[in-house]
Amino acid sequence: MREYLKFYIDGKWVAPIEPKTANVINPATEEISGRISLGSVADVNLAVAAARAAFSSWSETSRETRLEYLRAIKAEYNRRQSEIGDAVREEIGAPASLASGFHTFLGAGHLQTVIEVLQEFKFEEQRGATRIVKEPIGVCGLITPWNWPLNQVAVKVFPAIATGCTLVLKPPQLAPYSAQILAEIIASSGLPAGVFNMLQGSGAVIGNALSTHPDVDMISFTGSEQVGVEIAKAAAPTVKRVCQELGGKSAFIILDDASLSDNVASATSGMMVNSGQTCSAGSRLLVPKARLDDAARAAREAAEAVTVGDPNGNFAMGPVVSKGQYNIIQEYIQKGLDEGAQLIAGGLGPPEGLEKGFYVKPTVFAGTNDMVIAREEIFGPVLVMIGYGDADEAVAIANDSNFGLAGYVSGVDAETCRSVARRLRAGWIGINGGFDFHAAFGGYKRSGNGREWGEFGFHEYLEIKSLLNYA
Ligand code: NAP
Ligand code: MG
Repeated sequence: MREYLKFYIDGKWVAPIEPKTANVINPATEEISGRISLGSVADVNLAVAAARAAFSSWSETSRETRLEYLRAIKAEYNRRQSEIGDAVREEIGAPASLASGFHTFLGAGHLQTVIEVLQEFKFEEQRGATRIVKEPIGVCGLITPWNWPLNQVAVKVFPAIATGCTLVLKPPQLAPYSAQILAEIIASSGLPAGVFNMLQGSGAVIGNALSTHPDVDMISFTGSEQVGVEIAKAAAPTVKRVCQELGGKSAFIILDDASLSDNVASATSGMMVNSGQTCSAGSRLLVPKARLDDAARAAREAAEAVTVGDPNGNFAMGPVVSKGQYNIIQEYIQKGLDEGAQLIAGGLGPPEGLEKGFYVKPTVFAGTNDMVIAREEIFGPVLVMIGYGDADEAVAIANDSNFGLAGYVSGVDAETCRSVARRLRAGWIGINGGFDFHAAFGGYKRSGNGREWGEFGFHEYLEIKSLLNYA
């Protein structure tokens, strides 16, 4: 049993002002894995006051000072990697290989990237007689989701610290453990009191108190569209900057000249990684209409090859994060059946023998882009295959979405791949794969308004000042 009952505020571990706790459920067993404290508005006020008090001196520290702290954090992160992997496995049910692998690697990768960017970042430039100066925006409220818990925290906390901001982090109730360990890691670096503060609790209480707080200068939020809108409204009266990283329904386009079976297989198994709980997942698979039957065969084989089971065992996929998410996904699968989509693999109910724990069958439908299952983010291991006539139609279908987070193009002719990729109205496009910590990550349309990762993440935390006649 894990017990994380204290918050990190003003350089100290402190109990909440009004004691209140909540159990955390292990999604693989449905049993209680630990307990956290739930904070109140009074705790938020303390944390914001600490961040405000720390801002004037932290914002004036040198690049080298901030680099030293970030390097110390990195050394401790590396030392505690296996604990971080265990925490992610327990809180969201990610298979051990994924939790200790990519989840943990992403946190380290973003931290290393922030260090590299900070070494070179231009906080000032001269343009004619004008000096352009980039200054930290102030006190930041960071609100994160549970799906890639470390990644989401890392892409906010480290650039905020690097740019000279101070912050209050609110991790998700469903995945509080890895954030708690990260807070211990950051605390051990000796960062000045008040620069980094973390408290646990509900979005409705803590998230809302941060969004409405007159002394918070910006909110960086990753999560659902609905909550993103609520936060923007709550923040409007105090004219905060609100950076939103929201959902997606991204298209994976397999062009006519690509190997169909290989690409369908990798798109299908890729969809099931992290139980499909990935904002940038290629959840609409676009294949040439004339080859739909072959594609369906390859997708069925690939989906059925995805092993599902205990995160401690050697399985490709664990459970989804909660009973609530399980139910939502089941409703979408039912919806797909009701609206006449063709079920190719998986379907309703848990995989055989996995009645305990929130396990979902890797599911593939063939359908059309007007169906609910092709329009709404399901956030589970459910792929929708859609046929297209020519590349123009593939682009039109891909762009016919309220979202615009990511896209994927697979093909042999590089020119065609690039031109299709350029025409997609989305922020992160893989061309025959690809991954880059220094690329900008974020969405068009209702996928949000922010850009994180690499140097793009720095801009979210900076104000721009013009000093005129600064010759
Ligand atoms: P969510 O329900 O929107 O919650 C995200 C965070 O917001 C949680 O910490 C939550 O607290 C908090 N929150 C809830 N209500 C709030 C309110 N009224 N005011 C302020 N904060 C509030 O999202 P989720 O279910 O955790 O995550 C899934 C969503 O995140 C998906 O839509 C996914 O696409 C999106 N996502 C986007 C990206 C991206 O970079 N674009 C990356 C990952 C995930 P609780 O602890 O109470 O839940
Ligand atoms: Mg939610």
